[in-house]
Amino acid sequence: MAFVSSGYNPEKPMENRITDIGPKHFEQFYPPVIKANKGKWAYHEVLQAGVLKHVAESGDEVYTVRVGGARLMSVTHIREICEIADKHCDGYVRWTTRNNVEFMVDAEAKVKPLIDDLESRKFAGGSYKFPVGGTGAGITNIVHTQGWIHCHTPATDASGPVKAAMDVLFDDFKSMRLPAHLRVSLACCLNMCGAVHCSDIAILGYHRKPPMLDHEYLDKMCEIPLAVAACPTAAIRPTKVEIGDKKLNSVAVKQERCMFCGNCYTMCPSMPLADTEGDGIVIMAGGKVSNRISYPKFSKVVVAFLPNEVPRWESTTDCIKNMVEAYAAGANKYERFGEWAERIGWERFFDVTGLEFTHHLIDDFRDPAYYTWRQTSQFKF
Ligand code: SF4
Ligand code: SF4
Repeated sequence: MAFVSSGYNPEKPMENRITDIGPKHFEQFYPPVIKANKGKWAYHEVLQAGVLKHVAESGDEVYTVRVGGARLMSVTHIREICEIADKHCDGYVRWTTRNNVEFMVDAEAKVKPLIDDLESRKFAGGSYKFPVGGTGAGITNIVHTQGWIHCHTPATDASGPVKAAMDVLFDDFKSMRLPAHLRVSLACCLNMCGAVHCSDIAILGYHRKPPMLDHEYLDKMCEIPLAVAACPTAAIRPTKVEIGDKKLNSVAVKQERCMFCGNCYTMCPSMPLADTEGDGIVIMAGGKVSNRISYPKFSKVVVAFLPNEVPRWESTTDCIKNMVEAYAAGANKYERFGEWAERIGWERFFDVTGLEFTHHLIDDFRDPAYYTWRQTSQFKF
């Protein structure tokens, strides 16, 4: 189709320009039962995996059916969500902070028809469009990032490994058999967009080779001091290089100081470092954000490297499944993954998971690394 103007005039770009209007107020989109009982909820129950019941002081009830979302979705799929909301929920629907979708109804009789409808919908390939689950002590959606779909700094993909992992963890999305809820997150580089640094289990894209240097264009493409200042280990210094008969400003990278973070590439397009064999995945574990019982925790690196195995990432999904089973078997009720690992001791964690402990896992970044070593004789053989 040829160009169709929206009414915007490129000759007068500032004319009729609307700005700083912010998002729509959320109250505009409240289902009536939510609006009427806002701030007056008395209690809630989890009726079954994926189904919540909230009861208000007035006695009003709202039933919520949570379904998995792939996060990356077409307008066609969103229209189907809207169609379901129109059919069962008077047109109301919401998305959760983990990108699940929640349909709400105001009477128990409306719950089963809604669930039956949701579970009956599948893609041509056979995957559920709207699997019901994600509540309580199970595994809900994986918070994830752009990957090879859209970002220029990834060391792994996002949508691919997440689909592979959720397929393996699907039963735990649809049940609540674990000691506590278990959050899985993925980031495709160590910018860590999202929640990998604070999740029970985290999948992180990782490089293993230093950046290449496009000396010919570096000074034209990059603000050199920014690239120098981008490096956490000061591996980069400004320098002059000779290309042909020309002397050019560029940078030098001390390879033995580089730990492949890719931060310089973020600042300077002439320092690319992505590599098919070099890149892969690090697994971290034991993070949490809630203050329940123990303080929030960072996740810790427990597997230094797994290869990118397109399209199903078998080593990564095997590793995660193995960790989930060890946790399910060993942890006490209410105990999050990190609380369990700290209670039994990380040396025992490596025993029961069978994960290999390598020197890569020992912190060596600046003064704070010292505090991660063991200043006690307390340990288990
Ligand atoms: S985690 Fe890194 S690669 Fe992934 S979307 Fe964020 S910045 Fe891009
Ligand atoms: S990849 Fe990271 S550690 Fe290596 S030179 Fe660039 S900024 Fe420094």
